Amino acid sequence: MSTDPNCIFCKIVAGQIPAKKAYEDDDLIAFHDIHPWAPVHLLLVPKRHIASMESVTEQDGALMGKLMVLAPRLMAEAGVTGGFRQVINTGRDGGQEVHHLHMHVIGGPRPWAKG
Ligand code: AMP
Ligand code: ZN
Repeated sequence: MSTDPNCIFCKIVAGQIPAKKAYEDDDLIAFHDIHPWAPVHLLLVPKRHIASMESVTEQDGALMGKLMVLAPRLMAEAGVTGGFRQVINTGRDGGQEVHHLHMHVIGGPRPWAKG
């Protein structure tokens, strides 16, 4: 599995820094964002270090499908019933700050801090 020793999300995947986990399997991990924009704010993260959507290839189709399908399941498990947003920031102009591909999934009653 490809990892980057300087990457904060690779360190979370490796258990080297703590996170409040909501889900984990062989391919993916989900944990609560440290600065939530809304009552529920999860980050869904492939375990393999993929820098951004710009690095995704056709071989990642199943993985990206898994990520997409996991979002409603985890929101339901978190008690979110009123809907949610899924956001992926890509690159400088996309506002990406952590350069390990992740999907924000945010929900819960408004108002939200962002979005
Ligand atoms: P982005 O701007 O899409 O790259 O978002 C990165 C997100 O990662 C931000 O919402 C941060 O609050 C979140 N984040 C950064 N470090 C951690 C961490 N150690 N644990 C949980 N979330 C983090
Ligand atoms: Zn990484």
